[in-house]
Amino acid sequence: MTKDKTNKISETDQGQLRSVSPYKAGLFCLCPRCGEAPIYDGLLDVKEHCEHCDYDFSAADTGDGAQVFVILVLGVISVLVGVFLFSLGLPQWALLLILISFVIGGSIWMLRIFKALFIALQYYHDAGQAVRVVDDADTKEKTDIRNED
Ligand SMILES: [Zn+2]
Repeated sequence: MTKDKTNKISETDQGQLRSVSPYKAGLFCLCPRCGEAPIYDGLLDVKEHCEHCDYDFSAADTGDGAQVFVILVLGVISVLVGVFLFSLGLPQWALLLILISFVIGGSIWMLRIFKALFIALQYYHDAGQAVRVVDDADTKEKTDIRNED
């Protein structure tokens, strides 16, 4: 397997290594390249690299995308669950206890899945920093424009 300095792999290796579904890797929080090792070190900390295939996770940057998605989706679900529980006539302390547990547990669970899914989708679609494609007749190469002035 050949890698250059941007953690990218050659095109011949890409088809072979993209055999892991990004949705499966995200759902089970596994490495998007090999689908074997977990990507988390603890609850929500992403590891430096994969223990199985040595893929560098430091290039993966999900930003706030997963958090925003979880806030929006879980917010709607929590309101619906709250209205349903309120209609059951539960005491307020029980309603509060159930909803707080639901929101905290659901947030952590959904955040793990969506963060892993975003990392897997970035890998699958080869997303990264902006590069300029130099289209020479002999060689097609990607030039990193971050260090050019
Ligand atoms: Zn791996």
